[in-house]
Amino acid sequence: MTEHAPPSPQAGQGRPADEADVIVVGAGPAGSTTAYYLAQAGLDVLLLEKSRFPREKVCGDGLTPRGVRALVAMGISVSEQDGWVRNKGLRVIGAGKRMELPWPELSSYPGYGLVRPRTDLDQMLARRAQQAGARLREGVTVTGPVLDDRTGRITGVTAKSADEDGERSYRGRIVVAADGNSSRLSVAMGLRKRDDRPLGVAVRTYYQSPRHDDDYLESWLDLWDGDRLLPGYGWIFGMGDGTSNVGLGLLNTSAAFQHTDYHALLRKWLAGMPAEWGFTEENRTQPIRGAALPMGFNRTPHYYRGLLLAGDAGGMVNPFNGEGIAYAMESAEILARTVTQALARARRAETERVLAGYPAALADAYGGYYAVGRVFSKAIGQPGLMRFATKHSMSRPALMGFALKLLANLTDPRGDVSDRLVNGLSKLAPNPK
Ligand SMILES: Cc1cc2nc3c(=O)[nH]c(=O)nc-3n(C[C@H](O)[C@H](O)[C@H](O)COP(=O)(O)OP(=O)(O)OC[C@H]3O[C@@H](n4cnc5c(N)ncnc54)[C@H](O)[C@@H]3O)c2cc1C
Repeated sequence: MTEHAPPSPQAGQGRPADEADVIVVGAGPAGSTTAYYLAQAGLDVLLLEKSRFPREKVCGDGLTPRGVRALVAMGISVSEQDGWVRNKGLRVIGAGKRMELPWPELSSYPGYGLVRPRTDLDQMLARRAQQAGARLREGVTVTGPVLDDRTGRITGVTAKSADEDGERSYRGRIVVAADGNSSRLSVAMGLRKRDDRPLGVAVRTYYQSPRHDDDYLESWLDLWDGDRLLPGYGWIFGMGDGTSNVGLGLLNTSAAFQHTDYHALLRKWLAGMPAEWGFTEENRTQPIRGAALPMGFNRTPHYYRGLLLAGDAGGMVNPFNGEGIAYAMESAEILARTVTQALARARRAETERVLAGYPAALADAYGGYYAVGRVFSKAIGQPGLMRFATKHSMSRPALMGFALKLLANLTDPRGDVSDRLVNGLSKLAPNPK
């Protein structure tokens, strides 16, 4: 077990090592961001992570301006001198056409995106949480909840350390599940994935390629299953280090979802690329790895008996584009602000009332947008519709500009007509929790 000494004064000083105000399970973007904001507010936080940093995470490594905003909010330097690779927008390729769509100019978001390997990014976020005062323990796998016999409420977790024999318990007034897509802790509390919400599956790998210093994120809409266009896209993101992150993802709304061989689909798609890009077996630097993308609130409720869910654990991935890092970080911030207020209340009933407001706060932030996303993901899973949409939108730049705002969820509250249209759609949609 590794516990790095945090530099700032500790809310946890004088407290038993296995007790804290809040136990956060998982130090991905959701867990580290939660721990950062809680520690900043003066709470004592234990952040338990099963792996050790730096560690790999299967990802496209791409951040839209939404992700950049979340990093900046945590005081992380995102300059190119600090190793970040910037991008100007999204290049979309489909229906025999190619279009470069710059990120929109907005007051709410910066005008650029970023690329950074998750090995670096996640370590950076975890260290930031420690700098704020959170106690990070690496190599600690949480094995289950500790429940109050009488109320059934979670009061801590059991965990196994890579460095110790046996299990030990950690106690907290609040527990946060930030343990990713499979969220064993949520499952152990009876919170399963919802079948009525979208789910994606994506695979990715890296190739040495001259395309490594691309200043646009690139997205390919032509993924075919025989003569059927699949609901998903392939991506090529330049890492700036001689390699490109290349992958593809599909939504579960098409019939092909269950029986797709993702590795074969990736190879077939790449076989059609120009040879000089170098996407060949000899140039592949990593295995092809895949994972699920839980979308549109596909695990609820987000608060249940003392347990709050953030990021992938709560199914927060954007169903339009598969982006999850920004939503993990934003949901974590909403969660931390809720918990900070809740723990400042004098009476238990008041604390409970504030915590019960977390699902509503998330629904206010994303509920309407995700409801539109659910309709979108169902629609493009219909045979022919993805093809129709690609063919017709790719010849209309203005429509694609609007589509970028909608798909990447990038608008100002009182912006131009397209901003108001996207915001209006989200407001009109029934708002699911
Ligand atoms: C192929 C692929 C490509 C993607 N590309 C992008 C992209 O380009 N941009 C983007 O924004 N999003 C992308 N996503 C989505 C993104 O990776 C996730 O949404 C994001 O990682 C969610 O963060 P999280 O903190 O909620 O979960 P995770 O990043 O999964 O972190 C969970 C953490 O919990 C730890 N953990 C799990 N169980 C336990 C336990 N029992 N005890 C202790 N610790 C535990 C894990 O080790 C991990 O560190 C992609 C996903 C996939 C699969």
